[in-house]
Amino acid sequence: MLENTILNELLNKYRENKLAHAYLIETNNLEKALLDLKELIKHLNCENSYASPCTKCNLCNLITLNNLPSLKIIEPDGQTIKKNQIEELKTEFSTIPIYSKFNIYILKNAEKLNSSSANAMLKFVEEPTPGILGFFLTSNKDIMIDTIKSRCELYTLTYPSDSLCTTLNIPPNLYADYLKIIPSYLREVYSNKIINHKKTILNLYPERKDIENIFQIILHLYHNYFLKLINKEYDNTLINIYPLTENLTQISQKLQIITQIITNMSYNISIELILDKFVLEMRGSYE
Ligand SMILES: [Zn+2]
Repeated sequence: MLENTILNELLNKYRENKLAHAYLIETNNLEKALLDLKELIKHLNCENSYASPCTKCNLCNLITLNNLPSLKIIEPDGQTIKKNQIEELKTEFSTIPIYSKFNIYILKNAEKLNSSSANAMLKFVEEPTPGILGFFLTSNKDIMIDTIKSRCELYTLTYPSDSLCTTLNIPPNLYADYLKIIPSYLREVYSNKIINHKKTILNLYPERKDIENIFQIILHLYHNYFLKLINKEYDNTLINIYPLTENLTQISQKLQIITQIITNMSYNISIELILDKFVLEMRGSYE
C-alpha cells in the first residue's frame, strides 16, 4: 500500500498486470510528486516485495539516492529538455535492466520538451518496448504537446497547499468562510452591470480586518495563476475556487492592482472608496 491513493491505483494496476507504458502526471507540487513516484517505483521493483519503508534491499536504497541505472530522471537542461537527453535515454534503455524489473524514465517538467526532443520522445512512446515504463511529470498539462499527451494515461496528483491560512495568519474557520465569498464577489467585480458589489461583501464583513484578509487571499489566488502560467508550482486548491482565464500580461496588471489596493487599506482611506477603486481598475485592465 502507498500513502498516495492515486499512485496506489497504479500499484494495483501493476498487480493486475494492467500498467500502461506511459503516464502523464499533472501536479501542483513536482517535488512531492517525484518523491511519491519514487515510492511507487520501489514497489514495482523491490525484491523484498517492499515492506515499507524498505531499507533492506540495495535496489530501494539506490532509488532513494537516484543511483539506480534503470531509473532515469530527466530534468530540463537549462530552459528545455534537449534532444540529446532523449537520445541518451534511448541508448541506455536499449538493453533490458539487470537488477530491476523495469526500465523507468521520469521526465520532470515534461512540458519543457522542445520540438525536436518531443519528436524523439514521440517515437519512443509510439512504439513502446515491453519493460519500459514512462512518467511525464508536469505542472501544467495544457501546454504539453498533444501528440505525447494523447499517448499517455492521465493522472492528477494534487497536494494540499502549505496552508495559506497559516502563512497569512488567518484562523482556519475564517479562511474557509472567506473562500466561500470570494468567487461570487469576483464575479460581481467582473460583471459589467452597475451593481452593489460593495454591499455583498460589506454586509457580510463590515470589519476592515476581514476585507484585508479577503484581499490577501485574492492576491494569492492571482499569484498562483501567475505561477501556473509561467509554469511554476502553484496552489491548485486556491485556483479551483475561482478559475481565471486571463493571460500573463493581464494577470500581472491585476497583481499590481491588488497589491496597490492592499497598500491603500493600510492607510486611512475609507474601505468603500477602496472597494470602488478595485472594481474600476479591475474592469479597466480588461480592455
Ligand atoms: Zn526494497
